[in-house]
Amino acid sequence: MTGAAATPHRCVVCGSGESETIWSVARTPMHAVRPAGMADIASGFGQLDIVACSSCGHLSNRAFDTDAADELYGALVLTNEPVSPGMIAAVDETAALIMRHLKHVPAVLEVGGGGGALSLALARRSAHVDLVEPSRALRPERFAGTGVTLHRAMFPVPALKGRRFDAVVCRQVIEHVPEPAPFLAALRASLADDGIAYLEMPSADDILRRHSIVDFHYPHVHYYRRTEMELLLARAGFALAEVFDIKQGHDMGFLLRAAKTLAHEAPVSTGFLPSEFAAALAKRRSRAAQRLAEISGPIALYGANAYAQALLGLYQQSTPFAAVFDDTASYAGRCVYGPAGEITIEPPSAERLAGMAAVVIAAYLHDAEIARKIAAMGFGGPVYTLRAPAPDGPGRIASLFDP
Ligand SMILES: [Zn+2]
Repeated sequence: MTGAAATPHRCVVCGSGESETIWSVARTPMHAVRPAGMADIASGFGQLDIVACSSCGHLSNRAFDTDAADELYGALVLTNEPVSPGMIAAVDETAALIMRHLKHVPAVLEVGGGGGALSLALARRSAHVDLVEPSRALRPERFAGTGVTLHRAMFPVPALKGRRFDAVVCRQVIEHVPEPAPFLAALRASLADDGIAYLEMPSADDILRRHSIVDFHYPHVHYYRRTEMELLLARAGFALAEVFDIKQGHDMGFLLRAAKTLAHEAPVSTGFLPSEFAAALAKRRSRAAQRLAEISGPIALYGANAYAQALLGLYQQSTPFAAVFDDTASYAGRCVYGPAGEITIEPPSAERLAGMAAVVIAAYLHDAEIARKIAAMGFGGPVYTLRAPAPDGPGRIASLFDP
């Protein structure tokens, strides 16, 4: 065993100490994006040892290095900035959904806001927002005169201790938190008795359904199914108001109220066979390797995100990816990296696309939009998505993982 599993592993859902490995990657990038030309290019790797709890089936990375979490979240580069009309519309819809439940000028707490797009959208709808986000890349100037107060720190923040908010918003954060119970308790303590909370996270039900191997990447410690998260939320003193399927079930959103009494705990059961799931994932892994090997000529990735990060950890040593395109302007001069080195991120262009034998869309949640964009740039070669299985409907894009 490596040192990563030195502390005993205990399931955060049911407390069991028994688990079995269903997916592993020995050396995967810890960051999706980082500055190019870092002195110590051998650093910045971690291990994936994704296990299923033998008792309840909860999936988590047993090899996650909790001591490195602060460094990971203070990461130099902000990710998940909305860059396409579809992404910007999604942020606006979420802001509207939250505001629908609130009084005229509500006090809102957002925890882990990334670049602050949602906080700004809420403030434009006349909310006062306290945004807690540890990224050192976030510039306070961005929020001058906006109604958003930035706390560049890990949550909970001493400056907000004792404050109660009309709304508490926490999107795509809880899956990064090694110990969810105290974190959820702190969110609950920040919520006014008549307030609402909105939590959003990836769905492990979706990974179990689609066998999506690129959804396992280093920054996510935990992969929650809906029933598991409902249990943790009830334990923390939240009552369910509504649950949303987001991005066709890839993510789930929970609209919550402060519970007056503690809910009865329904036990969570595995509901799947870890060995069968592991075998299905292994099949996906070899199919993509085979497909990549069959492409002769340079391969470009589109989207410098978590899925590209996962792909590089899996295949960069056997596949020399030639280019990485991304629409995020602030990524210029940054790079993605894997065990075989770094690749500078560049904006897509017709000239660069013309030299590629194939394009793999890593930003698979936006694959249709990206496929149209590269077709409009004149690229006529094969295009694959990391979505698995391939999306249905007109303009079907082949999946790298399909037979
Ligand atoms: Zn468990």
